[in-house]
Amino acid sequence: MTVARVTLPDGKTLEVPLNSTCADVARKIGPRLAKDAVGCFWNGELCAMEQRITGDGQIRIITKGSPDAVLLIRHSAAHLCAAAVLELFPDAQLGFGPPTAEGFYYDFVVKEPFTPDDLARIEAKMRELAALGLPFERKELDPVAAGKELRRLGYKLKAEYLEELKLKGDVISFYVNGNRFSDMCRGPHVASFGAIPAFKVLSASGAYWRGDASGIPMQRIHGTAFPSEAELKKHLDLVEEAKKRDHRKLGSELDLFSFHEEAPGFPFWHAGGVVLWRELTGRGTTTTTATTCTSWRRRTAPSP
Ligand SMILES: [Zn+2]
Repeated sequence: MTVARVTLPDGKTLEVPLNSTCADVARKIGPRLAKDAVGCFWNGELCAMEQRITGDGQIRIITKGSPDAVLLIRHSAAHLCAAAVLELFPDAQLGFGPPTAEGFYYDFVVKEPFTPDDLARIEAKMRELAALGLPFERKELDPVAAGKELRRLGYKLKAEYLEELKLKGDVISFYVNGNRFSDMCRGPHVASFGAIPAFKVLSASGAYWRGDASGIPMQRIHGTAFPSEAELKKHLDLVEEAKKRDHRKLGSELDLFSFHEEAPGFPFWHAGGVVLWRELTGRGTTTTTATTCTSWRRRTAPSP
């Protein structure tokens, strides 16, 4: 096979020589698209336009200003977060750090869980690194050289992961930010750490290496990033409002239902809650004696 068949979002296909890049595909579709492309999804994976095409697949190109373009900002912020963590916690092991619909996260193996004070220091370090600019520079290595580079960097988990994939003849891309940070990654990113317009570190939670609960425990730092400070503030305000309206908080405050350690995720309906639920659903009558959390074992509770 010397050509790859690329399927576009509208179902049309085009053929490109093997080892063409996604940028070559965009150019083949049209010069305007090639100019506006900032990244793409290749077979569903977020990739830089430099991604090489080594077989048939599907492409969706992300253009400047499109809703998906925020993923570049968030993905770049995840790198910035990892760079800050490694500067403050040099023994930390890196897991993965993808963008998400609401922001980004990055997983780390650390000796102690991150405290709120740690998170504030990490965000401050992110701002310090962002102020230095530090462009994202792509470098491509073959799988053997990439494994060596990961071990040189001290990224043991990533090195093991790469070896497990047993890749042959593939190009593995790294993104380097000056002499401060380097990470194995498909991209795409904004131009530099300094080009992330607005970001915030939000919280930390427990996680496991590659989601395996019997595996290595990790700490996941959650954050978010937006194209402007105004959009970041709007998002944070909405999150605060949502917290005020969290059904778990309201249910307890209004004496409607409660949750208990004995049955995680199971709502224990209080008398008022049962009345309200019956009124809303039209099931049963409000005059029936309400079931309370003291008699939860005798019935099945509706889920709030
Ligand atoms: Zn990346």
